[in-house]
Parts: sequence; C-alpha cells; structure tokens
Amino acid sequence: MRVETAQAHYDVVIVGGGLVGASFACMLASQLAGMPVKILVTEAIESLQASTSFDARTTALSYGSQQLYARLGLWEALAAYSTPIKKIHVSDRGHFGAARIDQAEMGVDALGYVAENQHLGVVLTQALKESKAIDYLCPAKITHMLPISEGMQLQLQSAEDEAQFISAGLVVLADGGKSSLSATAGIRQQVTDYEQSAIIANVAFSDEHHNIAYERFTDTGPLAVLPLQELQGENRGALIWTVSQVDASAMMALDDAQFLNALQARFGHRLGMFTKLGARACYPLRLSVANEQVRPGLVLLGNVAHSLHPVAGQGLNLALRDADVLAHTLSQAFAAGEGLGSMCVLQQYMAQQSSDQLLTTRFSHYTTRLFSNKHPALVWARKFGLFSIDLVPVFKRSFARQAMGLVTPKKRSA
Ligand SMILES: Cc1cc2nc3c(=O)[nH]c(=O)nc-3n(C[C@H](O)[C@H](O)[C@H](O)COP(=O)(O)OP(=O)(O)OC[C@H]3O[C@@H](n4cnc5c(N)ncnc54)[C@H](O)[C@@H]3O)c2cc1C
Repeated sequence: MRVETAQAHYDVVIVGGGLVGASFACMLASQLAGMPVKILVTEAIESLQASTSFDARTTALSYGSQQLYARLGLWEALAAYSTPIKKIHVSDRGHFGAARIDQAEMGVDALGYVAENQHLGVVLTQALKESKAIDYLCPAKITHMLPISEGMQLQLQSAEDEAQFISAGLVVLADGGKSSLSATAGIRQQVTDYEQSAIIANVAFSDEHHNIAYERFTDTGPLAVLPLQELQGENRGALIWTVSQVDASAMMALDDAQFLNALQARFGHRLGMFTKLGARACYPLRLSVANEQVRPGLVLLGNVAHSLHPVAGQGLNLALRDADVLAHTLSQAFAAGEGLGSMCVLQQYMAQQSSDQLLTTRFSHYTTRLFSNKHPALVWARKFGLFSIDLVPVFKRSFARQAMGLVTPKKRSA
C-alpha cells in the first residue's frame, strides 16, 4: 500500500523498487502471507520513464520467470503486453550452421516471453501500491546505511520531509548496478569490461515474425530481434545489437535510413525488409559481480549483486530465481522463529543459489566471448557449437533449459 511516511521499524526494508526490488517484495509478501511481518519498499524515482528498470527496453522473460509471475497472480496482467517466443533461431552471419529450438520439442507453450519494461513497471508498481502487506514509499531515497546490533539503521530522504532514521531487521539492497550504498559499505565489485555497448530500439519489418526470436552473430557483434505484438498493423520486434564501444557512437550518429541499411546487411531477410526504427538507446556492457552478497542484516539482490551481459537474456531471470529462493528461505526462517537478518539464514540462501549464479554467469560470459569474437578458432568453435546444439539432443536440451531459466542446480528443501 502506498504510504506517505515510514514507520520507525520494519522487519524487512527493500531499497529500490525497480524490476528486482518490486518483484522480490511481491514474492516475499506472498511467501509470508498471514504472518506479522512488516515490509517497506523505498524507491527513489517516481516516474517510470526516468527509472533505470522501467525504461524503453524489452526483457526476454524465461519460461521459469513467467511461471514465477503466474504464481504471484501477476501473469494475467503481464500477459496482455507480452509476446510468446515459440522458436529460437541462432545463426552466424557468413557461416553455415544454425541452432533451432522449438517450444513443441521442449513440451511447453512458449520458450519465454518478450515483455516491455514499462508495462512490467506499471503492473509491478500497481501490485506494490495495492498490497496490504507492503508499505511502498516513493519517491524516497535511502541515503545512509549503518549496521546496528539487530540489523541496520537507515537514513531516508523522501520528497518534502526532513531526513528520517528508521531501523530494519534485514535490508535487501536492490538499488541497481550503480549502488552507492554497497560501495560505501565497502562491498567491491569484480568487473570485466566487455568494451561493448548494446544499442536497443524497436523495429518494424515487412514479414510476420511467427513468434521466432532471432539471435545472429555478425562481424560487429551479436544482434537479436525478439518478437513483439503487432501495433497498428505493423510487424514489430525488439532489436538488441551488441557493438564495440568505438562502433557504438558512430552507429548512434547514423540517421534512421542508414541504421536500417546497416541492420539489413547484417541480419539478412528472414523478416523481409526493415521499414521503421523507433528511438535508439545505448547501454555500456560489463560483467560485474559483488565480492560479497550477504552480511548480518544485509543481502544484495539484482544488478548490485551481479550485472550480466544481455546477450543471453539472463540478468533479470537469474535475479528472479535468487529472489524466489531468498523469499522462501526467509519465510521458513520466520516460521522457525529465526531472525531474518541472521547470517545463518542468509548463508542458507547463498548456499542454495550460488551454483545457479555461477553457472548462469559463466553461461552468459562464455556465450558473449564465443559469439563476439572473430578469431578463426573461435569461429570454428561457434560453428561446431551451433551444429552440436542443433544435432545433439542432449546439448540442445541443456542449452534450452539454461535459456528457459529451468536450471535448478539444487532442489529446495520442502
Ligand atoms: C540492454 C539490456 C537488455 C537486457 N535484456 C534482458 C533480458 O532480455 N532478460 C533478462 O533477464 N535481463 C535483461 N537485462 C538485465 C536486466 O535489465 C537487469 O537484470 C535488471 O534491470 C536489474 O534490475 P534491478 O532492479 O536490479 O536494478 P535497476 O533496474 O537499476 O533498479 C534499481 C532501482 O533502485 C532505485 N534506487 C537506486 N538507489 C536507491 C536508493 N538509494 N534508495 C531508493 N531507491 C534507489 C532506482 O531508482 C531503481 O529503480 C538487460 C539489460 C540491458 C542493459
């Protein structure tokens, strides 16, 4: 429920109501339904357009993430703005070899869904405002965080009010990849700069997409065109084109016609002719992993814990699996009378999720390295990889399960 001021103490304070913080709040409220736990979400930015989560991007939600939102009762509202992916087609420009993954082969209705971030923002923010179990304070920024004996003390700055001090048994830091709070707390990030940027835009084209997601590896870097719903009779897709930082500024400077020509030359004619280009945005890309994710009374979630390259569409999907496991661990701890911020509880969460995090981070990192490289040996490895995925059912299945967010290295206890 939307509140104007915060109470003096909460069991859990979630810093950041972006994609991860808002989703986690809904998961925690659902897991703790009926239990007397006070949850606060503070979000610094009120406008969805200005938010770092709910901007003009689209997100490929894996099958596993769709199932999570369905369990929360949010999928019906999200489905209206999401496009199912029925097939994934991976190819390498200028080389034979392609991998095709089909929803029918995998025995699911869709391999994943393409959701527009702004619609995710509308649905998730509405859920926060309506939930009786959550206090949602926005705009309100946490400016300082200090460990105390039973959790954390936080300084909160809302729009008009004086700064206020509140305490929390557990702080869930979901404040994104530029978290100043984690930096001030001395949590360092291990960063691999890919020296690449992702240019994103919506595109229109002459032929139907038939719900196929295309991933194509080109001389400039990997590019993906994900299927979007038709708008005013136009076939649409979401373009994510990874290019070197040097090429990015030149490509952002092209006019629309020049940009579409360059795209057509790299992508080919699987979608016919590209006819229109929406507004372009450019994101620098790097892999960043926090060197610690839990401390007494503190846990990091989402981009502050790990920001991945978007080539394999894994960042949010991994964070949602983390959030699901954390919510479950906390609800079990609460039922057992344990403190939510206790290191023992938080380490249980890490023990359960660390192998998924490692596997997914490696999958994303090596896919990026393999598919952004022109070295002849890697071109051959890629070609072999694509053939293997296509021809060897066990490779295909494990590749598809990772892409669908169905890799669960450790089963939940109970
Ligand atoms: C081009 C691109 C494409 C992508 N595509 C995919 C994809 O297809 N599939 C996928 O799974 N992932 C994808 N990702 C990754 C995904 O976007 C991120 O994983 C996700 O946005 C992380 O969300 P977050 O909530 O952790 O951080 P953010 O989105 O940065 O949100 C953090 C929130 O915290 C708030 N905040 C910050 N500081 C404070 C404070 N002190 N007090 C209060 N509030 C604060 C901010 O205002 C913001 O709303 C993509 C990423 C990029 C760059």
